[in-house]
Amino acid sequence: MEKVLAPVLYARRKIRTETFPIPKVGPREALVKMVGAAICGTDKHVFDKGEIRLGLPGDVVKFPVILGHENLGVIEEVGSDASKEMVTEGGPLTSGERVVISADIVCGTCYYCRNIFGFPWCLNHRSYGDVISCKDPPHLFGGMAEKMFVLPGTFMFRVPRRMPDEIAVLTEQMAVAYGAFGRAFQNPNPKEGYSPADAVVVQGVGPLGMCNAVMARMLGASKIIAIDKSPYRLKIARSLCNAETIDLAEHPRPEDRVEAVLSMTDRLGADTVIECTGFPHIISEGLDLMRNGGTYLVEGAYSEDEGTTISASRQILAKNARIIGVSGMPFPAYSRALKMMESYRNAIHFEKLVSHVFAQEDAQEAMRISMGLDSMKVVVGRMKG
Ligand SMILES: [Zn+2]
Ligand SMILES: [Zn+2]
Repeated sequence: MEKVLAPVLYARRKIRTETFPIPKVGPREALVKMVGAAICGTDKHVFDKGEIRLGLPGDVVKFPVILGHENLGVIEEVGSDASKEMVTEGGPLTSGERVVISADIVCGTCYYCRNIFGFPWCLNHRSYGDVISCKDPPHLFGGMAEKMFVLPGTFMFRVPRRMPDEIAVLTEQMAVAYGAFGRAFQNPNPKEGYSPADAVVVQGVGPLGMCNAVMARMLGASKIIAIDKSPYRLKIARSLCNAETIDLAEHPRPEDRVEAVLSMTDRLGADTVIECTGFPHIISEGLDLMRNGGTYLVEGAYSEDEGTTISASRQILAKNARIIGVSGMPFPAYSRALKMMESYRNAIHFEKLVSHVFAQEDAQEAMRISMGLDSMKVVVGRMKG
């Protein structure tokens, strides 16, 4: 009988390849043949630390687990109810369609689902690739498997027909950037919140930071300044987003970087600063990079390993700072991100964001490469790379 191959994370930093039976698909479920799962900061955190810090109920990594929540695949089988329940736009889903699968599953009936739809704060929240163990049948709850089992309550988003896999696989990450800017746009006062022609600083241009830099470009930023310690990543930021770049090797101290940004912004600071480093201690610097009345999107400070000291009076109150925490994205951001990438496909080489593709058997190596500074988006799957 045919089996499904999947890399299984059975302990911190330990992956082995296992096989699982092909599951039966019920009326409210689906089975997707995976094209690729892009590795996210969340995957790195789960792999490295064995924990997830979203602060949502039930969000504990349950080993063994199949990683992968930034998922692109082709529907192999979709239940009769699921074909209508899992779609957000257009007619019922059918087998053979290429789709992006939402990372989160919400219940639709709790307080958060009823009042603040779309954000994954559901009191019964589950997410693929980290909190659903592959110990229990039908096992295939992560996108790094050859096939993924799709549970009731999941949304799937159609990919435009001619969009290359290398672009479509970026959807989840681009949806985070879309959702972030969507919230920054809500400006009750003039020049408060993001507006086109703003100067944007991105702290850390790994995959998430790069998606934000690209989103800033699509949304008309007049200036994009990328800060990173990887010359490789800064080079991509220059070519993909026309970014000006600040290399940590040349600007080792926070005050050097603040001075560099001031000199690039008429000594005002950036209108919008976006944190995508993963290090909470960087937030104080980010507030100093931002002009008075500016906006700060905190998207990457995921770990609590290091403390951070900020001056509430000088950096928040006196600046009328608008600080927006960004965790996940509303569901509609997926299809919007897909549409934006399709619109800008000829102007922006999104495919440059995928730096490596590994087969399922090489998932351990894929994780290692993704955690280095000389990679951008690393994908596990069968897509050509
Ligand atoms: Zn992700
Ligand atoms: Zn809920």
